[in-house]
Amino acid sequence: MTTGTKSDVPTQDHAGSRRSYTLDARATGPKIDFAAELNPEQHEAVTSPPGHALVIAGAGSGKTRTLTYRVAWLLAQGVPARSILLLTFTNKAAREMLERVRTLVPSAGDGVWGGTFHSIGNRILRGHADRIGFRDKFTIMDREDEEDLISSVLAREGLSSSERRFPKAEVLADIFSFSINTGSPVRKILGEKYRYFIPLEMEIERVQGLYEIAKKKANAMDFDDLLCKTLELFLTSEDVAAHYQNQFRHILVDEYQDTNSLQAELVDRLAAKHGSLMVVGDDAQSIYSWRGANCENILKFPERHAGAKVYKIETNYRSVPEVLSLANAAILGNENQFPKNLAAIRDPHPVRPALVCLATNFEQAAFVAQRVGELHDEGVGLNEIAVLYRAHYHSMDIQLEFTRRGIPFSLTSGLRFFEQAHIKDVSAFLKFAMNPADEVAFKRMVRLLPGIGDKTSERLWTQTAAALAGGAGFAGLLGLKVPAKSAKAWEQFAHTLADLVPEAGPLPPGRMIECVLFAFYDDYMKAKFASYDARRDDLTTLAGFAAQFDETEEFLSQLALLGGLETADAFAGETEKVTLSSLHQAKGLEWRVVFLIWLADGMFPSARSLESPAAIEEERRLFYVGITRCMDEIYLTYPELRLNAGYGDNFQRPSRFLAELPETLMEPWDVSLPKPSAPDDDEVPF
Ligand code: ATP
Ligand code: MG
Repeated sequence: MTTGTKSDVPTQDHAGSRRSYTLDARATGPKIDFAAELNPEQHEAVTSPPGHALVIAGAGSGKTRTLTYRVAWLLAQGVPARSILLLTFTNKAAREMLERVRTLVPSAGDGVWGGTFHSIGNRILRGHADRIGFRDKFTIMDREDEEDLISSVLAREGLSSSERRFPKAEVLADIFSFSINTGSPVRKILGEKYRYFIPLEMEIERVQGLYEIAKKKANAMDFDDLLCKTLELFLTSEDVAAHYQNQFRHILVDEYQDTNSLQAELVDRLAAKHGSLMVVGDDAQSIYSWRGANCENILKFPERHAGAKVYKIETNYRSVPEVLSLANAAILGNENQFPKNLAAIRDPHPVRPALVCLATNFEQAAFVAQRVGELHDEGVGLNEIAVLYRAHYHSMDIQLEFTRRGIPFSLTSGLRFFEQAHIKDVSAFLKFAMNPADEVAFKRMVRLLPGIGDKTSERLWTQTAAALAGGAGFAGLLGLKVPAKSAKAWEQFAHTLADLVPEAGPLPPGRMIECVLFAFYDDYMKAKFASYDARRDDLTTLAGFAAQFDETEEFLSQLALLGGLETADAFAGETEKVTLSSLHQAKGLEWRVVFLIWLADGMFPSARSLESPAAIEEERRLFYVGITRCMDEIYLTYPELRLNAGYGDNFQRPSRFLAELPETLMEPWDVSLPKPSAPDDDEVPF
């Protein structure tokens, strides 16, 4: 019987008697043997009485496991599901955690309030929008909607013309968001991250105010509002605050080290009545300060919550001892941390961590690809392998090499390299320079110019095609009639194209990219994209890749083939894929084999972090996060030379983080290229 078991079926009609009925075991799940499935430290935290608690422990020690079992334990004690609030950092982590709870307690898991801070903020705001100046059924804007709304504010204020350099919507959205998440005024953020816009501070602040008004008028909230408006609601409506403070008897937070001040204040407020907030985290894995996370939240938790119990878990279940020793050594250089002593429980592994120096970045990619193939032949599933890196553009050579060799991969760090807008923009110049009949490339380019939209680009295309057909060459474009506000940019545009194809013949592709950047695109990126630095790095990498080709046509065909393969997702049918991921996205996850690539100073730690000791400490934590993702086998790789067209090939110094690791913990690998086979005797020319 699937729905229940009848018991004591009455044989006579007894008016007023009650029938007892028991659900089968499926409803509550198998009984959990907490003591057997947890170690004593975890068990103590899981079964602790209500109260504030901090579980602070190193990577792979079962913090996430502790939280899920804590939920199961509370439910087993009869705590109603809806009075438990479980918060974490990313959607993926939230889904996985709720799934784990459901596996433990199938019936009750659903009533638990669980999710990211943003999703819970949304759920709360839904019932009370009117209290903070919004209406019922407000919409949530994604980043693109947000930028559109800021753009329309700019247009109304006459600030969207590109004749004067005012930050574009994307940059403004970034500034506003950082301001909210760190609680810092715009002035401070401009000083730290956007010095070139400091003179525009007053106007930027005015736009911020107008954007706030526009959101209310449109009854739309952006992502950050889901946090800050929830806090505003609690601060201004005591009855609403009291309602949720009553409801949530137990609040649990994973990855607490990456909360920002807004998130920390939100949970503190929610926990004010019942005083039972359990947070877990690892200060050594705090890696989001660049987005406003504040490591002090976890370090000062016991001070902020008098009487909070602190639990430490000192066993690592994830990694073999060789990998764990490496991780422990990697984080030693940081001064600012809770001292922890992690011990491995797993048996030693036959393969030691490998330290692999390669001659160039291309050889690095070839090494990773070849080793992945061999591991696969040895029986390691592709899903059990990850290639991790500091910045998205570091994955380009690997993407190329994997694509060439047909190794399926999934990419969690962003768009595939060739699908990114800035790569396509710059490629459009090269395409058009080589093929002036390419209408798509032409329109893509001219739409980058101020004052040119779809209609004007259509008209310009007709005129351009005619001018070029008349043999005028690119310089002939100077004579075309363009809108007044586009005139200056148009002139520059025509000159740039002419420079790409001088009389002596087209420049090689690496030089072309350099030229487009210098003459036009670099300035464009500065104003248009918040992530200017990263995109600039991408284009430098692209120029490096292009330098392998003498002919631009050949380079463009390679690009098209690789891009085309990827767009159609050549690997869509494959279930087994190697993960390529930035270190930030790899948080909380684990793989059997991990390749940590580009361990060169200036790449990792990143060049921008080198000036500040606090930033270096954050990079070192990121390094620690990388090593601790690994269960069995790790490869630390770096190239000696970065091939870099137009910018000079750069010698790379091994990462300072490698120098901090005792040599005895790693096995150096000597990698050589195959020797050219000896020519046959008869072929010897003399
Ligand atoms: P991170 O710091 O990377 O987020 P974590 O501390 O949250 O790591 P978990 O992901 O919870 O660690 O656990 C790491 C691995 O160890 C998981 O595979 C988990 O199932 C296993 N593990 C943790 N505790 C135990 C235990 N007591 N017995 C068996 N396995 C365990
Ligand atoms: Mg975890």
